[in-house]
Amino acid sequence: DEEIAEAELQRLASLEAVTTDGERLTLRANVDLPEEADFAATTGAEGVGLMRTEFLVVGRATMPDEEEQYRAYRRVVEAFDGHAVIIRTYDIGGDKLPVGAFPSEPNPFLGWRAIRMCLDEPELFRAQLRALLRAAQHGDVRIMLPLVITLDEVLRARELLEESARELVTRGVPHRTSVPLGVMVETPAAAVAADTLAPHVDFFSIGTNDLIQYTLAVDRTNERVAGLYCPAHPAVLALIRDVIRAGLRSSVSVSVCGEMAGEPLYTLLLLGLGLTNFSMNSPDIGEVKKVIRSTTLEHARQVARRVMSFDSERQVMHFLREETRKIIPEVF
Ligand code: PEP
Ligand code: MG
Repeated sequence: DEEIAEAELQRLASLEAVTTDGERLTLRANVDLPEEADFAATTGAEGVGLMRTEFLVVGRATMPDEEEQYRAYRRVVEAFDGHAVIIRTYDIGGDKLPVGAFPSEPNPFLGWRAIRMCLDEPELFRAQLRALLRAAQHGDVRIMLPLVITLDEVLRARELLEESARELVTRGVPHRTSVPLGVMVETPAAAVAADTLAPHVDFFSIGTNDLIQYTLAVDRTNERVAGLYCPAHPAVLALIRDVIRAGLRSSVSVSVCGEMAGEPLYTLLLLGLGLTNFSMNSPDIGEVKKVIRSTTLEHARQVARRVMSFDSERQVMHFLREETRKIIPEVF
């Protein structure tokens, strides 16, 4: 049975992510290490929706220089010739720590993390931005900022990006000057303020892993409260719906790149809410594509309307399971 399932996923890799009534979606891969890129490209991923860059620092005592980073980013870009590769700037802090002199904090998930740390350490941040601008000569690189809560962070990051480009000009190093800049929507603040952020960014990517954690006040790494950590919570779903709507209003593309995007249970719902870009661990692409290719957009919209009328996550999950089983009986 496993061999048959494997062969089916292989077959799906070369097929489009399109509903039976012709809605074309884009499924991209999440990549944590440059070495994963070649495999991800064989799974049918149309680019990378989230390349995490913490591998460059986690568990290491020194920060990588611009050259090392450039080579790592370039490798991924070249594996996805012609497709978008969205590279996230350092999301250090929280659960992703370098070795050594990183401050210990009472609440690291609410502390000196991600874009906050990068804006406080502009030298380190500019080295990363320069490496990204250089890698962008080789393909469709887009830059994404993690853990944004306020517009000021985006504006300051944009200034540093422009400064980084000027530094490369001064040094005479080949690079692309203009690269799309987007943000992860992974805090309730960013989700609620999506309309305010939209005019200043080129894209949104909803990071459901953190968005769930911060919305529900449930530590994503704490097993004791793991039972409370649920993508189907109506408050989480309302935020996701609102971000997708804010993106549609401003013509800013919206993706989901948290684990939820790779769970077939949520595919109908996300599709019905108007999501057109998904990014997930590449082995999940086949199953999600199967759901997409077995439904109509109209059906997905009906499912989403029903789901948004429910009061509890249990109702949501039960209904989604039933509706998905109707189109793919063997899915769960
Ligand atoms: C997320 O928060 O959903 C996300 C994709 O980022 P990470 O899991 O790396 O925090
Ligand atoms: Mg996150």
